[in-house]
Amino acid sequence: MSARLHDVVVVGGGPAGLAVAAAAARSGLDVLVVEGRPFPVDQPCGEGLLPAGVRALDRLGARAGLVAAEATAIGALRWVDAAGPSVEVRLPAPGGLGVRRTALSAALLEAARRAGASFHGAEATGHRRGVEAVEVLTGAGPVRGRVLVAADGRGSRIRWREGLDAPLPRRPRFGVRRHLAIAPWSSAVEVHLGDGVEAYLTPTGTGRVGVAFLFEREVPGGWEAQLARFPALAARLGGAAAASDDRGAGPLVRASTARVLDRLVLLGDAAGSVDALSGEGVSIALAGALDLAELLPEAVSAGGSRGALLGWERAWHRRQLRAAAWTSILLGLARRPALRRGILSLAAGRPRLLQRLVAFALG
Ligand SMILES: Cc1cc2nc3c(=O)[nH]c(=O)nc-3n(C[C@H](O)[C@H](O)[C@H](O)COP(=O)(O)OP(=O)(O)OC[C@H]3O[C@@H](n4cnc5c(N)ncnc54)[C@H](O)[C@@H]3O)c2cc1C
Repeated sequence: MSARLHDVVVVGGGPAGLAVAAAAARSGLDVLVVEGRPFPVDQPCGEGLLPAGVRALDRLGARAGLVAAEATAIGALRWVDAAGPSVEVRLPAPGGLGVRRTALSAALLEAARRAGASFHGAEATGHRRGVEAVEVLTGAGPVRGRVLVAADGRGSRIRWREGLDAPLPRRPRFGVRRHLAIAPWSSAVEVHLGDGVEAYLTPTGTGRVGVAFLFEREVPGGWEAQLARFPALAARLGGAAAASDDRGAGPLVRASTARVLDRLVLLGDAAGSVDALSGEGVSIALAGALDLAELLPEAVSAGGSRGALLGWERAWHRRQLRAAAWTSILLGLARRPALRRGILSLAAGRPRLLQRLVAFALG
């Protein structure tokens, strides 16, 4: 049993948990990360980081360690309707990044260790918020902190135990990804829009492209069957060997009813995930972690009450509102093929307007 009272215990060593641990430890807090899986942690993901995520990686000093074999600079997004029209738009500076989740995990782990965070390799099985501290129960004994950061992902058990789960979406969506051993043919992330399914292609290092499908309706046959719904794409990728196991996840969107309680904050997907179609999840997790780390030192010394942590609720809303608005525009188009084709054709003729819209949404 750890008798030590840490300033912050973070449950979950994904992008959100590692980033907040690195930034909070760097500002002098005593931070412990509880992660149930061995590092580096893999995860079903399209693996595209948008500019906000790249900026956050830079602030954490975590981009320098990424090598070309596992990370590719992304210059543009290309939306392609399976029936024809397509548009490409440049990403605002500093651009995006396609990065294997294992490489991202290793880079963030290194940043957190360098900053002085410590690690507890065990699954958290329960927690109790008390007047003086929070106790987290784990398979390797309890740990204690002044504030608990729940960064335990989309299916957060901490959120569930606290009764903070919002109802599931009416039309849940799911995703499955596989990597192909194939040389990336461009530095753009391609989003192919089919009817009821999108294919998301991200270069993630020399000789590797990640192909993720997002959909409402499961079709028998998994990843292969989803690819068959895009005949032109299937012909282009035809024969490329798989470079990873298939990994699926869903429902993609999970929401919480509050982000802050006494001695507890929810962060990253645990606070609320957006549909993967916008490719914003990791960027929101990283940028949000930096927002939270900025206010943690004062909130911890003020006692870690809900009132002391409320700044996080406001910061979260600011980011989430913009992301939710952009995602619902994309989802609305994905779900309406005729409107989508019209808008793509229109946008192709007005590249400057589209560029400004994307810079506003993702800058
Ligand atoms: C198919 C798909 C495609 C996606 N594509 C993209 C994309 O292209 N770009 C993008 O930015 N985002 C994408 N996302 C979203 C992105 O994966 C998430 O938003 C991101 O992983 C959130 O990070 P997180 O740290 O909050 O949670 P996670 O990455 O889920 O990390 C949570 C961590 O907590 C640990 N954990 C959970 N429970 C416990 C416990 N009880 N005890 C100890 N540890 C625990 C887990 O092992 C895990 O390491 C995609 C998601 C899916 C499903």
